[in-house]
Amino acid sequence: MIGSVRAWLRNLPLAAKMAVPPIVIIVIFAPPVFVIIQDLTEDAESQILSLLVHRSDRAQSELRDRGFYLYETVDYASAIDELGPAVELGETSSVRAALTSVLSLKGRTDILAAIGLDGTAVSQFARPTDQGDAAASGWTTSQGATWEDQVLVTSAMSGDPPTGTDARASGLIVLQDRSRYLATVKPVRNGDTIAGAVLAGIELEHLEESLRGAVAGPVALYDTTGRLAFADGGVPKATPPPSGPGLRRNEIGGRDSSTLFVPADMNGSQIGSIAVSEDRHKVFAVARSATRGLEIFFGLAILAGLALLYFLTRFLLVQIRELLRTNQDMREGDLSARAEVLSKDDLGRVAEGLNATAAELQTMHTNLESRVAQRTRHLRAAREEARRANEAKARFMANMSHEIRTPMNAVIGMTSLLFDTKLNVEQKDYVETIRSSGDHLMTIINDLLDFSKIEADRLDLETIEFDPRACVEEVLDLVALKASERDDLELAYSIDENVPRAVRGDPGRVRQVLLNLISNAVKFTNAGEVVVQMRAQKQRGSKIRLSCAVRDTGIGIPKEQLEKLFGAFNQLDASISRVYGGSGLGLAISKRLVELMGGKIEVESSPGEGSTFSFTIAVEEEKQPSPPTDLNGESWTGKRVLVVDDNKTARSITAGYLKRWGMKVVTASSGASALRILTGPRAGFALAVVDHRMPRMSGSEFAAAARSAGCDLPIILLSSLDAKHEKPAVFAVVRKPLKPSVLHDAVATAILGRSRSVINERSHAFDARMGSKHPLRILVAEDNAVNQKVAQAMLAKLGYSVDLASDGAEAVQAVRRQRYDLVLMDIQMPRVDGLQATRRISSHFRNGMRPWIVAMTATATADDRRRCKKAGMDDYIPKPVTRAKLVDALMKCVKESNSASHQEGG
Ligand code: ADP
Repeated sequence: MIGSVRAWLRNLPLAAKMAVPPIVIIVIFAPPVFVIIQDLTEDAESQILSLLVHRSDRAQSELRDRGFYLYETVDYASAIDELGPAVELGETSSVRAALTSVLSLKGRTDILAAIGLDGTAVSQFARPTDQGDAAASGWTTSQGATWEDQVLVTSAMSGDPPTGTDARASGLIVLQDRSRYLATVKPVRNGDTIAGAVLAGIELEHLEESLRGAVAGPVALYDTTGRLAFADGGVPKATPPPSGPGLRRNEIGGRDSSTLFVPADMNGSQIGSIAVSEDRHKVFAVARSATRGLEIFFGLAILAGLALLYFLTRFLLVQIRELLRTNQDMREGDLSARAEVLSKDDLGRVAEGLNATAAELQTMHTNLESRVAQRTRHLRAAREEARRANEAKARFMANMSHEIRTPMNAVIGMTSLLFDTKLNVEQKDYVETIRSSGDHLMTIINDLLDFSKIEADRLDLETIEFDPRACVEEVLDLVALKASERDDLELAYSIDENVPRAVRGDPGRVRQVLLNLISNAVKFTNAGEVVVQMRAQKQRGSKIRLSCAVRDTGIGIPKEQLEKLFGAFNQLDASISRVYGGSGLGLAISKRLVELMGGKIEVESSPGEGSTFSFTIAVEEEKQPSPPTDLNGESWTGKRVLVVDDNKTARSITAGYLKRWGMKVVTASSGASALRILTGPRAGFALAVVDHRMPRMSGSEFAAAARSAGCDLPIILLSSLDAKHEKPAVFAVVRKPLKPSVLHDAVATAILGRSRSVINERSHAFDARMGSKHPLRILVAEDNAVNQKVAQAMLAKLGYSVDLASDGAEAVQAVRRQRYDLVLMDIQMPRVDGLQATRRISSHFRNGMRPWIVAMTATATADDRRRCKKAGMDDYIPKPVTRAKLVDALMKCVKESNSASHQEGG
């Protein structure tokens, strides 16, 4: 309870809190001010009453004037001394004589009597009621009268001999039987003994009149013994208090009244009581009128107090509000805010304190800001330095890669050439080892370059259309051989139906990630399976999230190693790495690539059971996939193709693919019917796709027959066997079961004249007839003597003899001097580099008859490729130059010069 009151008080606004004390004071002190007039003390009421009824002292003086005068009179009567012996002796005549002399002295007495000790009157005089009848003296006398109320008389005379003004021996007595009188009784003495009493009375009527005249309200009179002498109006017939004034509350005429008893005294002794009455409402009205001033005073005092409090509070609140405002401003960050100091009191000091704190804070803040600014400058400088260092690193990496590629070019090139020489089995094995080591080294260099580009934020992603399925299939093709070396390792893949055929993204980088994960899986799995799964999830609009998982049943990865896995140069177990090889960069690069492609990569693994690497990437769905085109943008659309297969299902699947790529398909169910179609009138086929295993006439027999029938069209053989030996007659052999991407590449190669690099075969053989089939005048511009030799030798193997230029300037001169179809141009050469040379050659042949220029460069960034293109180069071969790349480049040049000469001819 107390707690809740305290909490309530605590939460009260300041102004309300300050109002609490005055409210409490008003509640405590105001009621008494008003209670005064709700009830009166007897004293107050008596005083008010005596004021109201017109001073009881006036009544007293009236009494004295009228009645008590008697008392005095009797006391001073000259004859009183004579009365004592006369009364004692009962000598009526003497008594009468004495009374007469008293009477003559005091004419205002209405009755005068001398009373013996037995209570009978010795003699008495009464003033006649009828004044007219009065004798000379005006008094009638009687004697022997018996006072009925002897008790009164005797009590007035009994007891101890009265001394002085003994009340009991002298006082007002109402004569009951003669109620018209109020009398005083005084003892008379004879010497030392009391002889009797003398009684002097006045008619009440007279006294009543004069008392009424003196008092405003009802009035009553009581004698010494408390007997009512008379009562006017409703004055109660109550016994007056024995002594002193007294107040009685009573009802007079149905109204609430108060009666005040006032003792009437004479020479210090009470001789009776006067009672005056008044309506209590009147008394209260008087009291109220008396206290009204007080109430107004208190009211005004309270108002003044409240007003003072209000102003004080206001003053306090203004200062407090000022403090609050400043505080709020400071909290909102304005440290220049200051509170106005409105007084010199405690609050003023608080305001000063707040201002001082604010000033201090402001200084600190300024210092801090300048320190932060300084640090920021330092950080910026450091960042700039780091950026420069990073750039330097990237440059270094590019240079190193160039430096390494140049000799690697020689190593790999020479190895290819070696293969083409006569080698015994042992030598072949050595060469094979050199070649695979060279390939491996190139992989590592490529990884390092990729990594440094990613680190330097210089990796650009392409956004082109590609088929995600093809990506998976191509990568599986690449690792298939390695997987097949394991006795008991199954390589499988599944791609969800909802994965689109065409999306936009960077297929090269997707392939790179897949290759890393799948070749790792194959590398670390001796038995069991490696399964690749791909799914697609539609996002907003054309956005698609491709997710891919590579699951293996290999050696697995310990839990504690999992998080380190994607860090650079991280090979978990050096001994394992030694067995399996690798740079430890693959996963780090994959992670960065996947993140660049808007996804993430994760791994789950348990040692001994296997691992699952999964990644997602964001791509866009290509709504209208363009028909397949070759690198120069030529479409296949409309080309006629002949599909030959005895199996109807297989035939329609193959035909389906080709139709989807925009080709016109004609089918045949046997070699014989196919031959008829080929040699028939509506031939004009660009290509034939023929199953190898057919009854009666096999695919290769058909190919041979077609050749001997003079059909020159490229023939693709579909075979589940290794059909290398069929090569002379067929253009390419594609393994069954048919992978659309492989078929696609084979078709592209056949139709567009690209090399046979896509086919599932590993051949290092050079076609020495190429030079005679497609004659070209070739200039090789290369400063490095070894690489000159490599290029020269490779081209010689293909049947070409070439001219050499050892720098750009020589190349330009040679081109000016003599006509060439093709210039293979190194980029980094002393004096005039490849780019400059290209520009000069281009400006020399303004008519457009300049040779086809192919860049050969060991710097392999996308940027380099752009620069080459910008300088006017037509094609690009990254070093090390392989046979396949070289043949590709030559074929493109051949096609180009063919179409150019067509145009010239046409
Ligand atoms: P590396 O080129 O050495 O394979 P990666 O970055 O691709 O480099 O892989 C780093 C290390 O992660 C590997 O050396 C191997 O220890 C571990 N690792 C990767 N994939 C697997 C896997 N499928 N099973 C077991 N260990 C793996």
